[in-house]
Amino acid sequence: MNTVIGLACRECGRAYPDAPIQVCERCFGPLDVQYRYDALVGRVTRDTIAAGPRSMWRYRELLPVQGETAVGRHVGLTPLVWAPHLAKALGVREAWIKNDGVCHPTWSFKDRVVAVAVAKARELGFDTVACGSTGNLASSLAAHAAEAGMAAYILLPADLEPGKLLGALVYRPVLVAVEGTYDDVNRLSSEIADSRPWAFVNVNLRPYYTEGSKSYGFEIVEQLGWRAPDHIVVPCAAGSLYTKIWKAIKELETLRLIDGPAGTRMHAAQAAGCAPIVTMIKSDTDVLVPVRPTTIAKSIAVGNPADAYDAYRTAKASGGSAEQATDEEIVDAMLLLARTEGIFAETAGGVTVAATRKLVERGVIRRDESVVVCITGSGLKTTDALQDRVAPDVTIRPSLAAFDRALNDLQEASHGRARSYPHATAHADQGQRRGAGDG
Ligand SMILES: *Cc1c(COP(=O)(O)O)cnc(C)c1O
Ligand SMILES: [Zn+2]
Repeated sequence: MNTVIGLACRECGRAYPDAPIQVCERCFGPLDVQYRYDALVGRVTRDTIAAGPRSMWRYRELLPVQGETAVGRHVGLTPLVWAPHLAKALGVREAWIKNDGVCHPTWSFKDRVVAVAVAKARELGFDTVACGSTGNLASSLAAHAAEAGMAAYILLPADLEPGKLLGALVYRPVLVAVEGTYDDVNRLSSEIADSRPWAFVNVNLRPYYTEGSKSYGFEIVEQLGWRAPDHIVVPCAAGSLYTKIWKAIKELETLRLIDGPAGTRMHAAQAAGCAPIVTMIKSDTDVLVPVRPTTIAKSIAVGNPADAYDAYRTAKASGGSAEQATDEEIVDAMLLLARTEGIFAETAGGVTVAATRKLVERGVIRRDESVVVCITGSGLKTTDALQDRVAPDVTIRPSLAAFDRALNDLQEASHGRARSYPHATAHADQGQRRGAGDG
């Protein structure tokens, strides 16, 4: 069943066909995919979804790709992890980690949006895909293009983390490093998209591409047993994932798949060095002031976010708030998550955990409530952020005597000092070695 009606302007409502169009020609507003919700009520049920594939495609009727897709078939359905130690450290009753750091195939939630965009590009007859990226999108698009047998052109800021560059190059796209910020890359992408017959996933395919983010929200609710949590904390770059998780919850309400009124409050998280959306929400204004990013959280360093206005609306509509984290707080939070729950998130995950902590401290998230913390990428992609914060406890020659002596020294060094329990505080390890019993 084709459930897509076409596109429509978010601002003026003008209708457009199901085609690669970026903005409304009348008012330059963004375009949204329109679905036949009335035909879906009662047809898409908890049972039909449960009987679907073990991937994001179990929600196919609510995604803009019709029929079987040959690309990205294993993306999504990542773990929602019960996180009691993190909950205790943060001071809340119930915390969950939605962990897209283990998303197939490139370890970030970008696989969801790219799977939809590349499948749609094929459906629309393109043979070439392209994007401007802060890193995770580049590797995901390059991987999916390789799988689809399509040509890929990728534009990146030249100062990107080496791991992210390599993570795209391995799939052999045409990669163009641009001397400038992501916002420069984005502007250039729009100009190229106007002049070449390419499917620019985050330009002329953006209405479809962003819909892929909804699957992250659908999964949270399904994995909680068709219950929406009290709070969701989301890292924001363009602000799209944040708005689309909210849209996903609203769609599940429309299809009557959620128990009771959802009542979820949506909170935005950004790095202090690039927090234009957080600033709008906290100062309660719908006017975006673009910034020039300076942060280690490069994957979410978008100074002029496309969905800022919508993100602000999402916070208002859901009764949500926002918080930002300094580079030091980001690293502390990455270590806290790793040492409480054994999950290694990239810098964007550090932003989310640090923001969650502040929201609890402010009393926005109450201690008797439930919160889902969104982890959107793997820590192995941003190891440089931790380079001077972790080191071996000791280096020895390969003999038992050397091992015994070293262990003894370590125990002596930690004697009389409180053993640093990883759950106690994110700062416990600062400036000191771990107790010997930790290893
Ligand atoms: C792209 C990205 C986000 C957020 O993206 P939006 O543009 O706000 O949808 C969050 N985390 C990571 C790791 C990302 O790569
Ligand atoms: Zn319009």
